[in-house]
Formats: sequence, C-alpha cells, structure tokens
Amino acid sequence: MNHERSRALYDRALSVMPGGVNSSVRATMPHPFFIQRGDGGHVVDADGNRYVDWVMGYGPLLYGHDVPEPVESAIQSHAAAGPMYGAPTEVEVEHAEFVARHVPSVESIRFVNSGTEATVSAVRLARGDTGRDKVVIMQGGYHGAQESTLVGGSAENPHPSTAGIPDSFAEHTLPIPFNDPEAATAVFEEHGDDIAAVLVEPILANMGIVMPIDGYHETLRDLCDDHGSLLVFDEVITGFRVGGLGCAQSKFGVTPDLTTFGKILGGGFPVGAIGGRADIIEGFTPSGDVFQSGTFSGHPVTMAAGKAYLEYAAENDVYEHVNRLGRMLREGISEICAERAPEYTVVGTDSMFKTVFTRDVPDDVDACCVGGCRQNPDCARYDLCPKTGADVASAETDRWERVFWQEMKDRGVFLTANQFECQFTSYAHTEADVEETLAAYRDVL
Ligand SMILES: *Cc1c(COP(=O)(O)O)cnc(C)c1O
Repeated sequence: MNHERSRALYDRALSVMPGGVNSSVRATMPHPFFIQRGDGGHVVDADGNRYVDWVMGYGPLLYGHDVPEPVESAIQSHAAAGPMYGAPTEVEVEHAEFVARHVPSVESIRFVNSGTEATVSAVRLARGDTGRDKVVIMQGGYHGAQESTLVGGSAENPHPSTAGIPDSFAEHTLPIPFNDPEAATAVFEEHGDDIAAVLVEPILANMGIVMPIDGYHETLRDLCDDHGSLLVFDEVITGFRVGGLGCAQSKFGVTPDLTTFGKILGGGFPVGAIGGRADIIEGFTPSGDVFQSGTFSGHPVTMAAGKAYLEYAAENDVYEHVNRLGRMLREGISEICAERAPEYTVVGTDSMFKTVFTRDVPDDVDACCVGGCRQNPDCARYDLCPKTGADVASAETDRWERVFWQEMKDRGVFLTANQFECQFTSYAHTEADVEETLAAYRDVL
C-alpha cells in the first residue's frame, strides 16, 4: 500500500497543527492516512487506497458516506438559503419536536454544537438546578473535553486527568467504578447532600464497550431519587444508535432526568443537545437563570440534516440493517476468537462492536454470551469480561494499536486505532463488507 501523499500531507500538517491533527485520536502511528472521500461503507485515502470504514466518524455516520436522498436535499437547500441567521428557524422546532416525540425522557431540549458543549451545559444546569457542586462520574467514562469530567483517581482522591485543569476543579468531581453498586451507594452515603448529578454513559462506549450489569442503572436512579440528585445519561454516542430512536434509555427502561446528545443527532454536522424534564431544562436562560448561549446553536443546516437523518430512520429498515450487520460481525469475530484467541472478549450491541484483548481464557470457550458480552452471570467468561474502565485498560492495548490495527489497515479494513473506542456498522455497509472484514480478522488474529 502506497502512502506517499498521506505522508507528505502529514509532514505539512505537523508544521502548522499540533500533532498534525485537530482531534488527538486521529494521530495514528506512524502517520495517519488522509481521507480524500467517502463511498458508501468505504473511504478512499489521498493515495487512492480503499478501506472498509468501521470508524464512521467515531459515531455520527448512521448512513455511512452515502446520505439518503431526502437528507442530501435538506442539506443542500438549507445551505443555499442562508446558511445561518442568529434568529430562530422552523427546522429547529421540527427537530426538537421529533426528539421529544421519540425519546421518552425528553420534554424540552436545547441544541448546542458538540457533545462536549452538551455535557458542559448539562453539568452547569444540574448545579444550578440543585444548588450543589459535586458530580459523580464513572472511571473510564468519557464526556468530552471538559474541566469537570477530565478527572481521574477515586472519589476519595480525585485529580485532573490532563494538564491545564486546576486541582480545585477536580475537587468537585467524584469518580467511581462503573458497574459497582456498592461504590455508588458509598459515595452517596458520604456526599449525598452535595451531589448535583450522576453523569453516566448508559454503556461505556469510549472505554470498552462495557455493558451495564443487571440493575446498575436502576441503582443509580434510586440513589439520585433518594438524595435529590439528577441522573444524567450521556447518550452522545448511544443516542439514536442503541435502542433505535428511543435511545439506550428505552432499551434499558430507565428514565434519566437529563440526557446529553451529539453525534448522530446532527446528521454528520457538528451538534450537541441537552434534553430532559421541562422543569429542569427551563433553567437555561432566557427562561431560567443558568446561562447558556451559542452563535451556531440550532444551526439550520445541522438541524435540517439531523431531522432528515432521523426521519429516514423512522420510515425505513435502518436499525434492522445496522443491527443485523453488527450481530454478524460480533458472532463472526467470536467464532474466530474461539479458534485463535480464546482469551479475547467480543463486546458491543446493536450497531456497535469491538474486541477487547483481554488476557485470560475461560474454562469453557463455547459457553459464552453469543454476539457480544451481555454481562450475563451464567456466561463462562463472566468473571473475566471487562466490567469497568480499568478492566479494559488492563487489556493488551499496545497489541491492538501497534500490531493488530496496522495489519487490519494493510488489509483494507479501517478500525478505531486504539483499544478503547468502539466501531460502528452503517446503513451503507453490506454483507460483503462484513465477509471481507471477517476474512481480515481471521488472517490477523
Ligand atoms: C463523543 C462523546 C462526547 C464528546 O462529543 P464531542 O462532539 O466530541 O465534543 C461526549 N460524551 C460521549 C459519551 C461521547 O461519546
């Protein structure tokens, strides 16, 4: 595979952009390939190499790189008509109505421009609503590039997880392990009256994928209710992907007070949103006193793309298709692992999939969850499969990044470059893409 043009572009990029990229995950080793264009479930790089693309923009692209015709024309007409104004438009109202109609917990919604902006605003809103400062987060959870959640350590000893954040910010954050009801109960016993919110991804999807154990979210719901704290589901990645248009909260049957959205909601354009109970969301200015504002918020092109995206999914067999391909991949990879790498755990649900390079072989390789880890206590792998962010971090992460990812790329399969981020099927992918990918897994594992 020739990468001459990508190498030259990266060389130029390094002179004018830190690390040569605008988002750190893109700086793959030894240098990233630059994309020239998308084509259905594939991308073509600057040197003309073609890859099956399971990265899908890290989550937003439910249709791959071929948008359905109604989405295309919605984008074109709104781009031509403006593109934006600084005054409200009809399409914002329509998109808000669509989300409120399909997501059970959402009565009212504020659109913003990224998942990060959504979680920043949700934390501010929760603090304003409750008059409390502390937020509980999950170790290994991800809520974007924001000060209150880029915090590591434990509830007893939190610390910023990056340079540039004062220790005094991290003092208000309480990181606990995911899937550990005792730890959640303990943090509420200790700090209950000071906790504004629990922020949780319904499925750890940026460190995993890790499914919740049975009853975990119900425990969080009860603890929040008992202590007057808000339960915030960060559905930036699971929203409109897991559980279809009802999102992961409908799949799990748990009702959060607030939900953050992003990714798919913008139909491929920058987006975020905070939705939830109207009495809380109306705390945002101008109806309430928690300041929130944005020049590009509710951008007409984004709203039009997002609305057309979701409407198309409501009217076509989109989730059926992407979930079927997801299952084919998870089952196919499970079979290959059972043969060649029985220590590895296949994870994911709906249209998400990943293989965690765990280290221990279960006693009975054939008596495991089918089609992705379900945290089923009867599964032979139950004691070995990842349940927390730390479990994923202790897998063979280097092997994924330095050997496996590279060799899959050389075979024309584009996966997420590190062990932690998940992969996605899209409406544009075909069974042939799945077969080609499984053949590459068989070669490389
Ligand atoms: C991607 C993601 C974010 C951040 O969204 P950006 O649009 O990248 O700022 C926040 N939370 C979760 C769960 C995400 O997956």
